[in-house]
Amino acid sequence: MTIKQVGVIGSGTMGNGIAHVFAQAGYAVMLVDIKLEFLERGLATIGKNLDRQIKKERLATADKDAILARIHPTTELQDLADCDFVVEAATENRSTKFQLFRDLDQIVRPEVILSSNTSSISITEVAAQTGRPEQVIGMHFMNPVPMMKLVEVIRGHACSDTTVATTVDLAKALGKVPVAANDYPGFVANRIIMPMINEAIFALMEGVATKEAIDKIMHLGLAHPMGPLTLADLIGLDVCLSIMEVLHSGLGDPKYRPCPLLKRMVAAGELGRKTGQGFYQY
Ligand code: NAD
Repeated sequence: MTIKQVGVIGSGTMGNGIAHVFAQAGYAVMLVDIKLEFLERGLATIGKNLDRQIKKERLATADKDAILARIHPTTELQDLADCDFVVEAATENRSTKFQLFRDLDQIVRPEVILSSNTSSISITEVAAQTGRPEQVIGMHFMNPVPMMKLVEVIRGHACSDTTVATTVDLAKALGKVPVAANDYPGFVANRIIMPMINEAIFALMEGVATKEAIDKIMHLGLAHPMGPLTLADLIGLDVCLSIMEVLHSGLGDPKYRPCPLLKRMVAAGELGRKTGQGFYQY
């Protein structure tokens, strides 16, 4: 099957980036979210990011409208019926994703691959919600999607070789570098980065250093492109918390307990860049 039309679910931080890269690579995109205003915000972000690419002379001005015209916003999951591949990038919540995959299994043609951009939820469990577990896979893009080359391709327990091969080829067609990982909590990237971010939040909570000092030490001392608290704000503190919870429950080791300050900030709605307030103000 040739993949021409792709369904992207969720137009938040990741979903709008995923829609952006597919549309830029020439695919027609059905972009789904629960409210029109979320879709409008997602499309506005794509427009701004395309402008940035134009400014950096990485994109011709004339291409912007064509890319945006390939993205069709909708609040109806049913509109994914004709899609040839689906990437789910909705909120990191088990019951949300499980329900979405049960619904997608009914809506999308049986031969189509359903992928999830989940950071931490078991692909095997997501796949088990459907009648096509061999065609469910993790396609884990990195944030910000248009800039970051890596796509972690996560193979669930029942995933077929054909599904892996198709997903790897698709990632390459987007100009990304796919790397395979198996389905264990947090996969590879988050298994390693999230405990580091969590530890940075403990260090802040315990007064080891100021937020600026923690970030500067990791940025300059370890050559990280940005400090862990800045990174947490970029990822979204709610996303960080839910990944720590998955690592904690999935691996059963107390070293993964989420920092109380992280929990408190999420409870207060301070989720980072997307709400304008996290460790820093935006
Ligand atoms: P986000 O909160 O920015 O966006 C999620 C979007 O999903 C929202 O617009 C929300 O309205 C929408 N949504 C919720 N339920 C829906 C439904 N039933 N149907 C359609 N849309 C629905 O979250 P995000 O940061 O973009 O994360 C999305 C996914 O990507 C999560 O699984 C997350 O773990 C993963 N991820 C996030 C990052 C990151 O850095 N933020 C990186 C890699 C992967």
